[in-house]
Amino acid sequence: MRVLLVEDEERLAETIARGLRREGMAVDVVNDGQSALIKATVNKYDVIVLDRNLPVVHGDEVCRRLVAEQSASRILMLTAAGSIQDRVTGLDLGADDYLPKPFALRELVARIRALSRRAAPLVPPVLVAGDLTLDPARHIARRAGRDLGLTNKEFGVLQALLAAEGRVVSAEGLLEKVWDENADPFTNVVRVTIMTLRRKIGDPPLIKTVPGVGYKV
Ligand code: CA
Repeated sequence: MRVLLVEDEERLAETIARGLRREGMAVDVVNDGQSALIKATVNKYDVIVLDRNLPVVHGDEVCRRLVAEQSASRILMLTAAGSIQDRVTGLDLGADDYLPKPFALRELVARIRALSRRAAPLVPPVLVAGDLTLDPARHIARRAGRDLGLTNKEFGVLQALLAAEGRVVSAEGLLEKVWDENADPFTNVVRVTIMTLRRKIGDPPLIKTVPGVGYKV
């Protein structure tokens, strides 16, 4: 079983990693959210143990992005705060389980094992903007109940924009997310795809162009 441990308190991370390795798990350790996202793209982890309060990219955001990208890894969130509200927030973000600190190593091991046994693929939440819904698991995008009939690229662009939750996504960012590394950065595929996407979405317009920066919903 392969585990990614994301914990910024380095001594705690080492202690946990040692304990998990003793249980026969292959454990990679990173100390910030950005590194976690990079690792998760490069390697396939059965379980990602994710501290919530992380530098560079917050644990909540890491979780949200992993879920949006339909990562197959199960996510177990760790947090210092064990209130019911925090627990609910963590699960709302799409985490599969939640463990408040401090915890016994034995409990962490048991929960990781339980998560890795879960056969069902992670179901990402449905993305919503007004009367538009996008369901990545079913690959369906609708506006006011009407199926938009999007191509894969249009669907990918819309998903990336919705997942950004109102933040601007650059054309390069979209190219990177939706096309592969062989895509020519100087082509106008993004602009053309946005154009057809806008036509299919219809009125009132949903995708805004931010001149010189990119696009947002
Ligand atoms: Ca922390």
